[in-house]
Amino acid sequence: MTSTVNPDLKYYKMLEGTWKAADGSCEAVLNSGAGIEIRYASGKLSSSYGVTDAVKLRLNQGGMMLGMMSAAYTFHDGEEIKISLNNPAVYEGDKAVCRVSEAWYGNGELHLEMMDLFDGHKKDIVLTRVKEDEVPLAEGEFRCSCGYRGKLSRFCPNCGRKIN
Ligand SMILES: [Zn+2]
Repeated sequence: MTSTVNPDLKYYKMLEGTWKAADGSCEAVLNSGAGIEIRYASGKLSSSYGVTDAVKLRLNQGGMMLGMMSAAYTFHDGEEIKISLNNPAVYEGDKAVCRVSEAWYGNGELHLEMMDLFDGHKKDIVLTRVKEDEVPLAEGEFRCSCGYRGKLSRFCPNCGRKIN
């Protein structure tokens, strides 16, 4: 452990939690310590992950010549955070069956692109946050779409979103 403040911590906090696909085919659990676990069909993935502020990166790219990064990666509509898995392989037993070729967050949804390692077929999976059993909000308490809950005045102290 280092005592350095991690500037990416706020992104990890935003992504922290359990995410599920509507049809139940996929579940992802992310923790604020940069760990991710995915269950997909009968396969499993366990990895650490990195985050990139997609909004900032896109702005930077606008002023740059087309470099390696921008050539290699196309942003998705609404992408807020690009997620990079250090080990993107999904295993069935000890055999890798597919891999997460792209992962990103935007507009309250987690997106995973799964690539089948046998035929290269790609599938987009959209996951939404699984709500924990809600304790009713106390007087003056708010809940933000990023998951923060507590007292705030107009702006979420976690993600900066404006709250009405
Ligand atoms: Zn927030």
